[in-house]
Amino acid sequence: MSTSTTQRPVRSVISPGRYVQGPGAITRLGEFLSPIGSVPLIVSDDVVWGFVGHDVEASLSSADLPFRRERFNGLATSAEIDRLVGVISDAGADVVVAVGGGSAIDAVKAAGSLADIRWVTVPTVASTDAPTSALAVVYTEEGAFEEYRFFPRNPDLVLVDSQLVANAPAEFLAAGVGDALATWLEARATSRSSSLTMAGGVPTLTGTALAKLSWDVLWDNALPALDAVRDNLVTPSVEKVIEANTLLSGLGFESGGLAAAHAIHNGLTAAPQTHGLAHGQKVNIGSLTQLILEGAPTSEITDFIEFTTRVGLPTTLTEIGLTTGNLDELRLVADAATVEGETIHNMPFEVRASDVVSALLSIERLSRRVRSEAGLPEPEFYRAH
Ligand SMILES: [Zn+2]
Repeated sequence: MSTSTTQRPVRSVISPGRYVQGPGAITRLGEFLSPIGSVPLIVSDDVVWGFVGHDVEASLSSADLPFRRERFNGLATSAEIDRLVGVISDAGADVVVAVGGGSAIDAVKAAGSLADIRWVTVPTVASTDAPTSALAVVYTEEGAFEEYRFFPRNPDLVLVDSQLVANAPAEFLAAGVGDALATWLEARATSRSSSLTMAGGVPTLTGTALAKLSWDVLWDNALPALDAVRDNLVTPSVEKVIEANTLLSGLGFESGGLAAAHAIHNGLTAAPQTHGLAHGQKVNIGSLTQLILEGAPTSEITDFIEFTTRVGLPTTLTEIGLTTGNLDELRLVADAATVEGETIHNMPFEVRASDVVSALLSIERLSRRVRSEAGLPEPEFYRAH
């Protein structure tokens, strides 16, 4: 991601080979998978496999694809990735398919890349934009952010069954909204500073525009989509939010750029009590903190707090298990968020750890007041299980 002084940066967009979305799409996995590989290895945890295994098996057998399924162990760690590389080799697989959530997907992308075979993602929830990107977030065994790993390609196929997404608890979709709203805030900042994106160039109009489209789609559709998903219904709003969370946000962050929100998310993983929270929940705190750091207009900040509280996302430290009284911990978070190479340095101004501490501290009182004035509930303290 570094640019040499003799070369001028290029503009670049990267994307998956094919994106497929719709109710019952899982029953067509075999059809879309067969042009990509002939010996698939499916990676899925036992819970996910319990409700999709039958459809995956039926679809692959009707496409004459013999396959092996390997259990995913729950966290995208270096050890789990290396273990999967061994399984790929044992199975003689030429394509590895992640069926499940963001961690399984990240582990599979990393393993497929190391094994030098093709990889496919089948997200069963729309909780992150991991399914479409060419990078993975690798965590320590304790669940703290360790590193981004970048791959030479995006998945050859992303296949999302909207009905499976609608059958999952609405909290997953809400978390995906948190991840996807950050995409525009970060792409906007990256575009203003002409910093480099994850795709390895300065932002394209395409990446920035898709990030904005994701934001607009979510403001219009997130609340009705969440209502529908609470009754396991697939409506046009649900389809739009799935596409925004998975595809638009993925393309938008990767080719539009990350900035403070995700760096603050990564910093928050330094606090162990946040490990049980979804990626998108912590990202939402990052987005709000970024707006504070930017000195965004008060109306924009107020709208963001009200809207994301209605979506069910945290807007206070209390809701992610932190307190304004524990300054040492907030300093730890801020130090991690501002280490050299973090995307917070894509902001169009210098950000120091002390700025992040002040911004994080400030959201508690601000959000409580905005919520109270809007008749929204008081935050409840998040206790890690
Ligand atoms: Zn994210």
